[in-house]
Amino acid sequence: MSSVRPVIKLVKGVPTSDGDGVRLTRVLGTQEAQMFDPFLMLDCFDTAQASDYVGGFPDHPHRGFETVTYMLEGRMKHADNTGREGIIGTGGVQWMRAGRGIIHSEMPLQTDGRMRGFQLWVNLPAELKMSAPGYQEFEADSIPVETREGGVTVKAIAGTTSEGSVGPVGGGAVDALYFDITLPAGARFEEPVGDERAAMLAVYEGSVRVAHDQVDALTGVFLGSGGRVVVEAKTDARLLLIAGKPINEPVFWHGPFVMNTREEIVQAVNDFNAGRF
Ligand code: FE
Repeated sequence: MSSVRPVIKLVKGVPTSDGDGVRLTRVLGTQEAQMFDPFLMLDCFDTAQASDYVGGFPDHPHRGFETVTYMLEGRMKHADNTGREGIIGTGGVQWMRAGRGIIHSEMPLQTDGRMRGFQLWVNLPAELKMSAPGYQEFEADSIPVETREGGVTVKAIAGTTSEGSVGPVGGGAVDALYFDITLPAGARFEEPVGDERAAMLAVYEGSVRVAHDQVDALTGVFLGSGGRVVVEAKTDARLLLIAGKPINEPVFWHGPFVMNTREEIVQAVNDFNAGRF
């Protein structure tokens, strides 16, 4: 029996805003927690106040990594400079490889009601940073929901669970797992995650115990090596389990560009300014 993964760091989410004034809580990609290889950033947005989100994320570039948008409530429309557009609906996911570069907008398709979801940034290894952009998009009904003992449910968005549910998103270069887990108070969730992957949790509702720590909502949990991820719910709780193989390369990160060297960042800025995206 493998050991339980310990907590190596708890990261309290930081309220901030991005895009055109969209209010969100950043649990990864903050001063305190700059990245957790291969993951760069995780934003949680959750508000019923339209003024907190209607501005959306107008045209902006990305190069060198992937963005994963998962909507719990509300709908987001995206459109990019290649003419591609689509809608991420409630419960749906978009896994976008920016690769060598895209310019896109991400705008709420609603002017009232609650908008709730997440955006994760996943780094790409050097050999894929300048690859062609691409999308994987799935609606809620193609994401399997697994029911476990104690009323625990696991939505498999990317990767395969230990009980065999297969997420529709291919985990890409880092062989990612992305599971959305709901636990009733008192329930326990346990999942083997092999040591080849770095694993983190993002608790977004309620309060749980992970190893020796109590973890409240809007907190990131970086897990150490071990094998099994174990979470016990103190109250009804919801969290994401995100895992992937570390890339172990130098990271030069400048706004929406994440490359390996300073020269590549300068190139990205020049390419963007010259309209080469
Ligand atoms: Fe974006």
